[in-house]
Amino acid sequence: MVAELQTGQVDPKDIKLPMVEIFETVEGEGTKAGFPTTFVRLFHCNLRCTWCDTPYSYAPAKPSFMATISEIITEVQKYPHKHICLTGGEPLLHGQKSIALIQALAEISYIEDIHIETNGAIDLKPFQELRNQDERVGRKMRFILDYKLPSSGETDKMILENFKYLHDRDEIKFVIGTDEDFQVAREVLKKWYQRGVPLFSPVWETMSPKQLVEKILEYQLTEVKLSLQLHKVIWDPDQRGV
Ligand code: SF4
Repeated sequence: MVAELQTGQVDPKDIKLPMVEIFETVEGEGTKAGFPTTFVRLFHCNLRCTWCDTPYSYAPAKPSFMATISEIITEVQKYPHKHICLTGGEPLLHGQKSIALIQALAEISYIEDIHIETNGAIDLKPFQELRNQDERVGRKMRFILDYKLPSSGETDKMILENFKYLHDRDEIKFVIGTDEDFQVAREVLKKWYQRGVPLFSPVWETMSPKQLVEKILEYQLTEVKLSLQLHKVIWDPDQRGV
């Protein structure tokens, strides 16, 4: 059974994970943009996107600290927010340990929404099984599937099967830096989309929000939602922990 840990006698709360940071802010993107949210950022990533804005979340950088799931939960409970963003790096890279963390977060009674930013290069099947088997996780957990387009340099790593595990509440994020990215995003949606909210987000350095809006309207993408990174408007774009 997927929800059972394969870690012998270890109490799930004692499992250690490499961490980058835990902090409060407002969600910057997607359907929950603007809501106060607790961010839990795990260390390690299996991709190296050209425009990545969190290179401190994978090698050669080092984790900021190691924390047991119990310690992570204690830290999260210092904040009153009902939204959690579990992010990285790639937060699902830790397999059964990621599952144990998601279950522990879902046990916090006032948490209503755990959205998981995943990079499209992780098989979502075990996590979808978790959502089906654990009623509490099923109610609270959502995927934000970040589909990497050509300008990321990682588009060949995308697991297209993942589209079939998405629910209506999930989101599919396309970060668009070039015209080619835009056209590929359209094609992917046409061919693979089943459920979830498609979000188009511009790479600020190479595609202005205005250009992206014009293209969305030109191609009549009526189901697509523009998503701007609020934290880049509120704070310095390079500031961490916001
Ligand atoms: S998946 Fe995310 S964290 Fe990993 S390299 Fe790409 S943008 Fe950076």
